[in-house]
Parts: sequence; structure tokens; C-alpha cells
Amino acid sequence: MIEKPAELAEDSSVYKTLLESTKAIPWKINWQTMQFEYIGPQIEALLGWAQESWLTVDDWATRMHPEDREWVVNFCVSQSQSGVDHEADYRALTKDGDYVWMRDVVHIIRNEQGEVEALIGFMFDISERKKTEHELAELQKKLEEYSYKDGLTGLANRRMFDSVIDENWGHAIRHQTPLSVILLDIDNFKKYNDLHGHLQGDECLKRIGALLEKAAKRARDFVARFGGEEFVIILPETDAEAAMKVADRCRQLILREQIFHGDSEPSQLVTVSMGAGTITPTREDTIDNFLDLVDQRLYKAKREGRDRVVAR
Ligand code: GH3
Ligand code: MG
Ligand code: MG
Repeated sequence: MIEKPAELAEDSSVYKTLLESTKAIPWKINWQTMQFEYIGPQIEALLGWAQESWLTVDDWATRMHPEDREWVVNFCVSQSQSGVDHEADYRALTKDGDYVWMRDVVHIIRNEQGEVEALIGFMFDISERKKTEHELAELQKKLEEYSYKDGLTGLANRRMFDSVIDENWGHAIRHQTPLSVILLDIDNFKKYNDLHGHLQGDECLKRIGALLEKAAKRARDFVARFGGEEFVIILPETDAEAAMKVADRCRQLILREQIFHGDSEPSQLVTVSMGAGTITPTREDTIDNFLDLVDQRLYKAKREGRDRVVAR
């Protein structure tokens, strides 16, 4: 048996100490046998499963959140087969039945023939980072609720709409002037997202929002994102005929923009359906009833074939 030189033996004990005292948990898997050749003892402190209990890749795969398992295993196997270093985030199961967010960073080791021989890697506990990410997303949501602006289109949001319609309603009652509202809904927008992706869907919403602001151009006209792919326009001191003109202008501007859809029934281009209503309200009328009526007209426009305005 060949003795290792003394310094090297010393060196490897230094490496071992270093590896086993870091927070990152080192491991090695033999690609032929799919067995762990090594896993750092820190794994027990983090997940509760003893170091000796990590025998094969199955132990790794089964100790994973069921929602993460399929894609993580498929991803890691296919990357390893193609010899590509990679990393994956997933929830690892603890012995107590909880989950810990982990990032696994994987390097491929090849033999002299260039074939994949082993995988080595580090597992990092990223639960703190995930918690912060989650809290940030929640905070963002809250901020949007408290704000009056829609984050995507820059238009007023639903909250702002609620307060503006109240104000205009009161004004219309006191002065006995007609108030018009147009509700718009993009036609077959789910398919648009499916065909072009959600990001391009977002772009489309922004473009439509900007066009509606062009169409409703009087100083007190008000455009808001009502939610999802629905918009609303409030036209104070506007009768039904003038409201119809604004609705037609919306349609024309959107058609002229020629946003390619590709799978929509009324047209190859992106179109909208609209419901329009006009009221000179009295104390007996309610905003909710009026908006319901306009909404029913919007649905009538959908039923009658989309890409149109229904005003009665
Ligand atoms: P219809 O002509 O009957 O209105 O059909 P539709 O597909 O437009 O209606 P549906 O209500 O089934 O789908 C609305 C779609 O709008 C589904 C949703 O993913 C998409 N959507 C809602 N909000 C957003 C958003 O902020 N961005 C993107 N990209 N899509 C959104
Ligand atoms: Mg809709
Ligand atoms: Mg729609």
C-alpha cells in the first residue's frame, strides 16, 4: 500500500474540517451507482436526518416537498446528463415534517474520457432569503392597495375609481346633469396571453390604457383600470350621444393600433367589447344599480359577437 505523504494527509484533514464547519453542506454523488459517497454532518443539524441515512439519490428526492419534487428531479437529472453545472431551489423535508428552503449548487465531475463520473455540490439554507422575498411581495401588494394608481398601466386603479364615481354621482344629482360610464373588456385576452405570453399581455394592457386616455380627452374625463383586462371611463356632464362618440373613438384608436392577436373571433387584431350607460341620477338611484346595468350591456356585447358597443 502506498502511504500518502504526510503533508497531504494533513491538508485533507484541514479541508475536511473546513468543509464540515461551514454553513454550506457539501455532498458527493457517484453518477454510476447514484449513491451518496459523502454528505456533510451539518445536514443533521439542519434537517434532522442523520448523516448515515443519506444513502442514494432517492433519499434526496423523497425528502423534498411533493410540489417541487418532479421538476427539481427532472431538471437536475437532465442537466447532469448533459454535463451542465446547475442549481435549484426547493423545499427540503425535515425529520419533524417541516420544510426548509434549500439552494443546491451542483458541479459535474468527469473522468479522463470526459464522461460524467460524479456530482459534487453544496446545499445552502436559503429560508431567510425566501422569507424576505415573500415579505417584500406581500408589502408590495399592500402598497398597491393603499395607492390610487395601477402599478402596470399607470392609470387610476379601482380604489380611485370608487372615489371618483362617488364624487361625480353627487355632482350629477345636485346639478341634474347626465353622467356617462363606459366599461371595456378586452376580447379573448386569455388566448392572447396563451399565444404571446403574459409579459406581452402586460404590454398590450399598457397600450390599450394609453389609447383610452387619448379617446377620453376632456379635462374631467376619467379612465381607470377596473381590474384584470377591464377598464372603465367616467364621462361627467356627457349625454348618451356624446358617450357613444367616445366609445367609437376607443374602438377606432384600438383598431388603428393594429395589435396582432392571431386567435380572436371578431378579428385577427386585438379588439374590445363595451357597455355604455348614461344617467341623470336622482336620490332614488344607486351607483351599484347603474354600474350593474352597464355591466349587463358589456356582457350583451360579448354575447352578440364582441368588438362592439352596447348602449341599451
Ligand atoms: P372575453 O372575450 O369573454 O372577455 O374572454 P377573455 O379571455 O378576455 O376573458 P377571461 O375573463 O376568460 O380572461 C381574462 C384574461 O385576462 C385572463 C387573465 O390571465 C388575463 N389578465 C388579467 N389581468 C392580467 C394582467 O395584469 N396581465 C396579463 N398579461 N393578463 C391579465
Ligand atoms: Mg374580463
Ligand atoms: Mg376579456
